[in-house]
Amino acid sequence: MILILKREGELNMTDYNCGDRPTEGVYQCGDCSKEIEIDGTINVLAPCPSCGSCSWIQVNTTE
Ligand SMILES: [Zn+2]
Repeated sequence: MILILKREGELNMTDYNCGDRPTEGVYQCGDCSKEIEIDGTINVLAPCPSCGSCSWIQVNTTE
């Protein structure tokens, strides 16, 4: 069993929606937890490819 708990101190959890233009990084679907990466070529959040949700949470992967 793998527990996915990304609680390292104080995570900066910010909510984003479709159409937002966040900074580069990894974003996790608020409904199904699918992760996508925003980079220099894709800079606008689209609906989740898995469930169609428009709720995204930024994931801090720098550590
Ligand atoms: Zn989803």
